[in-house]
Amino acid sequence: MTKTVPDNDALLESPQHVLSTMERDGSRRWLRPRLSTGSWWQRRRVVAYLLMVVFVLVPHLRIGGNPVILLDIAAREFTILGRTFLPTDTLLLALLMLTVFVSIVLVTAVAGRAWCGWACPQTVYMEFLFRPIDRLFEGTVGKGGKAKRSGGAALQIARFGVYVLLCGFLAHTFLAYFVRTDQLTEWVTSSPIQHPIAFAVMTATLGLMLFDFMFFREQLCLIACPYGRFQSVMLDEQSLIVAYDPVRGEPRKRGKHLPGDGAGDCVDCNQCVVVCPTGIDIRDGLQMECVNCTQCIDACDDVMEKVGSPKGLIRYSSQDSIAGKAKKMFRARTIVYPVILLLLMSGLVFAISTKSGFDARIIRPGGAPFTVYADGTASNEFRVRLVNRTSEPQDYSLIADAEQNVTIEVLDEEKMSLEPGESVLVPVHVTFKGSMTRGSGRKVVAATISDQSDNVREVEFSLLGPR
Ligand code: SF4
Ligand code: SF4
Repeated sequence: MTKTVPDNDALLESPQHVLSTMERDGSRRWLRPRLSTGSWWQRRRVVAYLLMVVFVLVPHLRIGGNPVILLDIAAREFTILGRTFLPTDTLLLALLMLTVFVSIVLVTAVAGRAWCGWACPQTVYMEFLFRPIDRLFEGTVGKGGKAKRSGGAALQIARFGVYVLLCGFLAHTFLAYFVRTDQLTEWVTSSPIQHPIAFAVMTATLGLMLFDFMFFREQLCLIACPYGRFQSVMLDEQSLIVAYDPVRGEPRKRGKHLPGDGAGDCVDCNQCVVVCPTGIDIRDGLQMECVNCTQCIDACDDVMEKVGSPKGLIRYSSQDSIAGKAKKMFRARTIVYPVILLLLMSGLVFAISTKSGFDARIIRPGGAPFTVYADGTASNEFRVRLVNRTSEPQDYSLIADAEQNVTIEVLDEEKMSLEPGESVLVPVHVTFKGSMTRGSGRKVVAATISDQSDNVREVEFSLLGPR
């Protein structure tokens, strides 16, 4: 059987841009968005530089001698707002993660992709640190996305050098959230041969940052980040979005409009497209690629001012507002999500405030349940499960309730000293008057366990003896 191969002329033409960053032949369409320095950009710039300062300072701040945030994966310790959590704090960590997740869902339902446009590190560093460096070395970008000067090899090498320096600084700052700053300083000031693994991690982080900010850029938002893909689930028709008003803008007409000529306010100048860092046309409606950066608002407001039309053809709005429907502050999402968030946060605060410095349980191992002696005393064997939840080494003591004539002998004293996060099983021998269990053969008693940091817990356990 012979196959017929269609000649190229018979192939269907693709639309001009299937994806906003792909040419018709499938190659990458490099974006060099023009900057629009309107009022929204100025507000975003203040927020962006504040966030950069916070990002750099946080690893150096302390609360009660503890870091504000330290996610020490190697030591399996997580310090948040000066409080240390261990992987065994399952409930706390689960509550914390759920609180963060529901907060994101709530913010998105109310304010749309405010995170993407205003606070995401990708947007903040790309638009307010690396893009300005590009403009410095390549000149201000003109219409059509072409740099004003080609740069030449020397300028490109200099630009690369600046990227390496900045990414190096950011990579070290980023790792300071995972490694103590004194340890990091020691690594930085000593030879890489003395800490090859740490050096490899640092180099990989630097390489990833360079790859992202020099090459991958908006592709991270368009391909890699799952947040944009979830927006259709998280947004509703009342959520705040950056939107073009087609009722006012259509039909488009190039040039200045005359009153009563039947044209909409859009003069089809394309300025909202050339400023877009993800290369889309906001006039095509709500799109996954839109990171709500507000650049098209600023660009269009500027055009409206010049042609003498009211600003706001592109504005913060909602799908319902654009369609002329009433605004609804209270809807299922804005009631249910805050209630869930409040419950989670209350649970989190309660769990943190009642969190003990250690876990203790008294467990009965297998074997003979009790032993009775000739003098009428009886004994039971137990294991005490101890988990040190503090960030300091601790020595533990175990005292039985004296009034009940119960004595507890720790059979392995060395095990009562625990490192941070350590968990042990300590064998103990408990003796008591055999008459205590008369009747039911069982008696519930308590032991008091304490550490050096004045954390105290009373733990109940059942003695078994003769009936
Ligand atoms: S910037 Fe405004 S006027 Fe110009 S094309 Fe975009 S929507 Fe139309
Ligand atoms: S469409 Fe407008 S708000 Fe959305 S990413 Fe492009 S410029 Fe930013």
